[in-house]
Amino acid sequence: MGFLRFIRRYSYPFKDKTRKRAHALWCMQSRCFSKDGVLNGNDMVHPVLIIGAGPVGLVLSILLTKLGINCTVLERNKAFSKHPQAHFINNRSMEIFRKIDGLVEEIQRSQPPVDLWRKFIYCTSLSGSILGSVDHIQPQDLTHVVSPVSVAHFSQYKLTMLLLKRLENLGFQICAPGSLGGKEQFCEKKIMMGHECVSIDSSDDFVTVTTSSIINGKRVEQNFHCNILIGTDGAGSTVRKLVGIEMRGEKDLQKLVSIHFFSRDLGQFLLKENPGMLFFIFNTESIGVLVAHDLRQGEFVFQIPFYPPQQTIENFSPKACEELISKLVGREFGDVNVVDIKPWIMHAEVAERFICSGNRILLAGDAAHRFPPAGGFGMNTGIQDAHNLAWKVASVIKGIAPSSMLNTYEIERRPIASFNTRLSLENYKAAMSVPAALGLSPTVANTVHQIIINGIGSILPSGLQKVALDGIFAIGRAQLSEFVLNESNPLGSSRLAKLRRIFEEGKSLQLQFPAEDLGFRYLQGALIAESNGVESPPEVLTGRRRDYTPSARPGSRLPHMFVRANPLSEETVSTLDLVSGDTVEFILIIAPVEESYRLAHEAFKVAEELEISLKVCIFWSTDSAEGLEKGSKAALSPWKNYADVEVLSSTSNWWGMCNMTNRGAILVRPDEHIAWSTSSGLAGDLRVEMQRVFSGILGLHH
Ligand SMILES: Cc1cc2nc3c(=O)[nH]c(=O)nc-3n(C[C@H](O)[C@H](O)[C@H](O)COP(=O)(O)OP(=O)(O)OC[C@H]3O[C@@H](n4cnc5c(N)ncnc54)[C@H](O)[C@@H]3O)c2cc1C
Repeated sequence: MGFLRFIRRYSYPFKDKTRKRAHALWCMQSRCFSKDGVLNGNDMVHPVLIIGAGPVGLVLSILLTKLGINCTVLERNKAFSKHPQAHFINNRSMEIFRKIDGLVEEIQRSQPPVDLWRKFIYCTSLSGSILGSVDHIQPQDLTHVVSPVSVAHFSQYKLTMLLLKRLENLGFQICAPGSLGGKEQFCEKKIMMGHECVSIDSSDDFVTVTTSSIINGKRVEQNFHCNILIGTDGAGSTVRKLVGIEMRGEKDLQKLVSIHFFSRDLGQFLLKENPGMLFFIFNTESIGVLVAHDLRQGEFVFQIPFYPPQQTIENFSPKACEELISKLVGREFGDVNVVDIKPWIMHAEVAERFICSGNRILLAGDAAHRFPPAGGFGMNTGIQDAHNLAWKVASVIKGIAPSSMLNTYEIERRPIASFNTRLSLENYKAAMSVPAALGLSPTVANTVHQIIINGIGSILPSGLQKVALDGIFAIGRAQLSEFVLNESNPLGSSRLAKLRRIFEEGKSLQLQFPAEDLGFRYLQGALIAESNGVESPPEVLTGRRRDYTPSARPGSRLPHMFVRANPLSEETVSTLDLVSGDTVEFILIIAPVEESYRLAHEAFKVAEELEISLKVCIFWSTDSAEGLEKGSKAALSPWKNYADVEVLSSTSNWWGMCNMTNRGAILVRPDEHIAWSTSSGLAGDLRVEMQRVFSGILGLHH
């Protein structure tokens, strides 16, 4: 009896009857996920299963849990990777992290101070001559004018540890294979390690995932059923392959080996001599990029070009890596400790679809898009996918929206993934402009490699192919000798001048992209697109830094401004903080003017009909303090879910920044993106307009 109750509680139906009735009043929903939780008296249907416990799967499980949705994560590996990989967390991801209890503060406490990572340094070795150095932090990046939080430099595996801590606080357990004694299918709030997804079967009613695990030395297969399956299983996604979704774009741009090592002595040396985040090293012996993950702890990753099959990963033994490190560093440090060596391939691809199987299977993160790490958009785009998806999944499971609303995830996120792929490619080209100016073209190196593999070189035995390749590359690197690269050599002097121009004009690889980081905008989806929507022509991407311009157009992120949410207190919060991370709630921002209060009344009525949570925020200027004392109580009675918000500068600043009059109104979604806005008052029937707005956002049909 208790057991049955447990199953029912865990796998509650997707849509409760009250909501069905409310919607039936004036809208028809497309098919909803309504399968009850018990199958054949034994198995259960999970509301959400997530495949892959990388940063994207973990962030998604936190966001869903905070919105009250139970989910379980199935992870192939038995332990979490310690390879640092991503390290740059952009502004928008940090804003999302502000809603994950204490995460931002812990990242900020643990990351190295900004002065240790604000620069990219270009040199012939770490102890040799500096070819150029670029500082990527501008004063406005630290003043919190456009965002309440700054970017961060923090290794992916350390972030994973902090995310796991948050999940544990939310009641999650990390389970080894077999530790649940055969009750795996009934697991709630678990990260099931050592469970590799090997097959997927989707019916009209639910999705079945088969996992393979090794338990007591034996291979064991288990089935898990769910209403929604989300593949966050990385660049080689099994979920994507099993459902037959193809990737579109450019494959195999470059192959690299990533060497993770520790050397406190090197860390101390760089702290003293020339601290930075990335060191691009070009010398006659070798070429590589050193990523300083934490100079204080002496934690580094070297990225070295890799040319298989002439080179194999066995050529990168720890001993060989230590030698390579010495060549690049330019001197020996006795304490170099190589801990991991990993090959990887750079692609620039986006999945042709992000959703399939009747809206039951979705892809997020690297499973849906994989791009060059230049500009650090990979993990960040994935975290923002999770943020876009969480409130939509919660709305569908809670019965607020029909399952067709999940289509808006692909409609919104796929163009952003395609855009970020193009941007990362431009950034990659910008990164390559420096070696090209030095007479080293990676395109030429790749072409030479292809000729050796497929062309004339293919007739050589493989040992000779390697010798030929090494020889050709050594000739290429000879361009970097002091003999060539100096001011008194006409060729060297013209190359050095070209290099200086690249740095001065900001044409080398940039770290920050505020316009794209904070300014990305959804043109269609769970929003009311502008009717006069004249879109500017697509931007010509250059890979250069562009500033963010605040916008209140539908699809934009709500602009940030510090306000006082409780006029009785001195405490200030960001406008982004007006949106709750713990409930699926919309925010309507208005000024304290009569017609906007009327609009708010109608919005409340429609939200009540639809059982949507709505909060109205009335933005008061400091010069209307008299009115603020009385507040909005009388104007909004009997509605209670409102907040009088004091804008610290003048009101026109807020509405002016949004390019609106104070007769305007802004409706904000639970992911802080603007669902609808009007720049001045509305004519016509406000009730009908609000019905049109909410039904359009949630995909309900009149
Ligand atoms: C050198 C380098 C530097 C980078 N720097 C940055 C940066 O600074 N900023 C940035 O934003 N991005 C960066 N990236 C990209 C970033 O690392 C990825 O975008 C990020 O790891 C994607 O996260 P994810 O959760 O989607 O996938 P992953 O991190 O790949 O996680 C996928 C998880 O799924 C599991 N899995 C796989 N298959 C299965 C299966 N069949 N069943 C169950 N589980 C499975 C895997 O074991 C893994 O744990 C960098 C990448 C590289 C290579």
